[in-house]
Amino acid sequence: MNSATPSADPIIARRGVLLVLSSPSGAGKTTLSRALLDSDGGIRLSISVTTRKPRPGEVDGKDYVFVSGENFERMRAAGDLLEWAQVFGNAYGTPRAPVEEAIARGEDVLFDIDWQGAQQLAEKMAGDLVRVFILPPSGSVLENRLRGRAQDPPEVVAKRMAEASAEISHWAEYDYVIVNADLDTSISGLKAILAAERLKRERQLGLSLFVRDLQSGL
Ligand code: ADP
Ligand code: 5GP
Repeated sequence: MNSATPSADPIIARRGVLLVLSSPSGAGKTTLSRALLDSDGGIRLSISVTTRKPRPGEVDGKDYVFVSGENFERMRAAGDLLEWAQVFGNAYGTPRAPVEEAIARGEDVLFDIDWQGAQQLAEKMAGDLVRVFILPPSGSVLENRLRGRAQDPPEVVAKRMAEASAEISHWAEYDYVIVNADLDTSISGLKAILAAERLKRERQLGLSLFVRDLQSGL
């Protein structure tokens, strides 16, 4: 056996994961996304553009890039959006360039997008995509969360509750499902999904080279 000291923590080149979170509004996507982003430096958020008005506390360029209908249409027509959809009467879309650049660098990207966006990404980038659906533990909990968030007027909360069942009907198109009852348990589950997906053999592009070097040193 070769007695040379192996490098401490071999970095194996890999392709980035595109991690999509979808759920009915209020089930906890934003909360789970923030927790994951805060605890994991290897994943970045895809910041969507939207024609929706900012909620109190939302920051332009951080939560969303808030644009006019005209500017959204210009981006869409120019092919600058990887996917886009109308949700609750507003347009939302994912800027293409940051995602393509991140994957090429082997970085992971987190998406908080609806089922329509997830379907479009599945058509274009299936091999890179990992889809996670977040369910609320019950309808009444969902309504309480929407009300408790205290960021939307009652008519907007009612509209989102009315749409919840239609969004939930897409649950079976996702690879993983988390019922978001206890927040810490949900966060642990989400981290476990990302950790396992990062280790998938086909994502670890540098494995053949690594194993060849490993064997040559045996
Ligand atoms: P979404 O992004 O899916 O619309 P949010 O992340 O904004 O949902 O969550 C809606 C509300 O529910 C927020 O006030 C959030 O703090 C709360 N919330 C999220 N997950 C949980 C949980 N597991 N337990 C209790 N409250 C939660
Ligand atoms: P909200 O207005 O609560 O921030 O988002 C409303 C819905 O739009 C959520 O289901 C959210 O996941 C979805 N959404 C946000 N950004 C995008 C996007 O870029 N594309 C698509 N398809 N959906 C989005």
